[in-house]
Amino acid sequence: MAETIFSEMSRLASEHDAINLGQGFPDTPGPREVVDAAVAAMHRGWNQYPPAVGIPSLRTAIADHQRRWYGLDVDPNGGVVVCSGASEALSSAMTSLLRPGDEVIALEPYYDLYAATAALLGARLVPVRIHAPDYALDGDALREAVTGRTRMILLNTPHNPTGAVLSTAELQQVADVAIAHDLVVLADEVYEHLVFDDERHVPIATLPGMFERTITVGSGGKTFSVTGWKIGWATGPADLVAGVLGVKQWFSFAAGTPLQHGIAAGLTLPDERLAALATDLARKRDLLTDGLRELGLEVFHSRATYFVTADVAPLGVTDSLEFCRSLPERVGVAAVPNQVFHASPEGVETQVRFACCKRDEILADALLRLRKL
Ligand SMILES: *Cc1c(COP(=O)(O)O)cnc(C)c1O
Repeated sequence: MAETIFSEMSRLASEHDAINLGQGFPDTPGPREVVDAAVAAMHRGWNQYPPAVGIPSLRTAIADHQRRWYGLDVDPNGGVVVCSGASEALSSAMTSLLRPGDEVIALEPYYDLYAATAALLGARLVPVRIHAPDYALDGDALREAVTGRTRMILLNTPHNPTGAVLSTAELQQVADVAIAHDLVVLADEVYEHLVFDDERHVPIATLPGMFERTITVGSGGKTFSVTGWKIGWATGPADLVAGVLGVKQWFSFAAGTPLQHGIAAGLTLPDERLAALATDLARKRDLLTDGLRELGLEVFHSRATYFVTADVAPLGVTDSLEFCRSLPERVGVAAVPNQVFHASPEGVETQVRFACCKRDEILADALLRLRKL
């Protein structure tokens, strides 16, 4: 398997001293209380292996969070497993459920880990495309994608890279398919708190008949702007969560003890603090969107996440992959071609994803550099 596009673009960015709007990570330190709690844990000597399932205070904080925000009744003992990032929660969930020849349906564009993990397992990722500019779910395409081999629907909302947020009506269509065909839904909700304006994230596990067939995945790294910590989790019914734990104990066994303490502190912060992170990010989305539009690009409205997608065809570009490979050297900016989130680049040849989760002055500098194009 090749180097991931994010690693490649981050490497090119550092080689050419470019501003990295490719890989999605913030350039600010994260909430003070979260960092302090992790540092305090280290100084207290809480530096040894945690339980594979996660430290009790974090599991309790995750269960409380699911109840407080969504009214979901998650058991902190049996219904939660802490993982090495949402990545490990996703790959462990897939490994626990998919056998060679099984099919997993995912919205396309999709996070690259899904296809790679399916390939490692000998399973097949079946893409169901959502289209710019509004990225609405095509219910008919979803229903047509189901075969006798379908085992799982991998649902990412809020959605990377498009910034789409599925409505309750769209989620109901997914739920109907899952229930009709007895499928498990693996719900990647790492951007649950990075939702802008009047949008609201609805976990599919809250829909009738869905909790018992859904594994919901969250990420402390994404929620608290500490992506390098790699603390994520899966929640759901005991039987499905036991499967995730059964696999992940042989992957990483467990994730950084003091960092788990930090994320536990974050999840108990007042709700307004999380809202403030989203408001700040929405403003950055606007800065980047407006700036890219001033350069003459078509920018699709992003309703959530760290990302904004633009069509760079007005710059005379015909292949965004080639464009993104040369961009760091040409103007000192890195970005990611949306093609890498597709099984086939057809129709998205000129789309580029830019990360907006950077300090205002960095975004302004990046826009200035892009002017040279
Ligand atoms: C970042 C990301 C992940 C991985 O989250 P980590 O907690 O960093 O492992 C999973 N899914 C999507 C859609 C992401 O953007």
